[in-house]
Amino acid sequence: MKITLNNQIALVTGASRGIGAAIAQTLIDAGAFVIGTATSDAGAQVIDEKLGENGIGKVLDVSNVDSIAALMTDLKADKKLPTILINNAGVSKDNLLMRLKDDEWDWLMDTNLKSVYRMSKACMRPMMKARNGRIITIGSVIGSMGNPGQSVYAAAKAGLIGFSKSLAKEIGSRNVTVNVIAPGFIQTDMTKEMSEENKEAMAKTIPLGKLGEAQDIANAVLFLASDMGQYITGETLHVNGGMLMN
Ligand code: NAP
Repeated sequence: MKITLNNQIALVTGASRGIGAAIAQTLIDAGAFVIGTATSDAGAQVIDEKLGENGIGKVLDVSNVDSIAALMTDLKADKKLPTILINNAGVSKDNLLMRLKDDEWDWLMDTNLKSVYRMSKACMRPMMKARNGRIITIGSVIGSMGNPGQSVYAAAKAGLIGFSKSLAKEIGSRNVTVNVIAPGFIQTDMTKEMSEENKEAMAKTIPLGKLGEAQDIANAVLFLASDMGQYITGETLHVNGGMLMN
């Protein structure tokens, strides 16, 4: 059975590269209209050209309330309010708690967690009205297992799980599902700083013996976004090659 998303409008935050770019293309290929965002005009332009006539690139800073409001105003005017929201945009920066500064905490929390509260709140009303919606947030295996140097990132990603479960209970009766996909180590800009040696050592600790690809996450998103995922809500789907088994 081919999975299709015909007549759906998907908003993918952080679609300029990595996991978000793979998600945006996969949802387009399945028949959705896709709004992909980047933080700069140039990035939005590249997305616009890449997605073609069934997609559009927009500027968005998920940590900025005015930027979110401007995007939503635009989408409403264009009659492109999303039926599928993919909260993918995220940032990481390692630091031991001993050295961590308040502004690093705030930046990581604002971009990885508060952003999801803001984006979900901005998009959920039309979904509830239409009795049709999917909110899918990209978490991380680190939110479930922790990692030295990543206490804030882990706190933000763990927070997404509790947030999503609660929202799933609030709006399930309106046929809007809310789920988290928690990637393991995926080859993107976020992990490119890792040395080849470290990547090989990491791969040895993963039962499937390799790091994941952005497409592995996009495939899981497609499943949850489609009718195939209609009875799944409040769930965290781990896509990590077996590096963490709950
Ligand atoms: P990436 O390659 O570093 O890309 C990050 C994306 O987020 C870019 O599109 C970037 O836009 C966007 N972004 C950054 N700050 C933003 C902001 N303030 N507002 C809006 N967009 C912003 O990251 P990735 O590896 O694809 O990660 C995507 C998601 O997966 C993140 O939530 C990350 O935490 C999660 N994840 C990744 C891994 C992994 O191993 N890669 C593992 C677990 C979870 P610009 O291009 O405009 O900067």
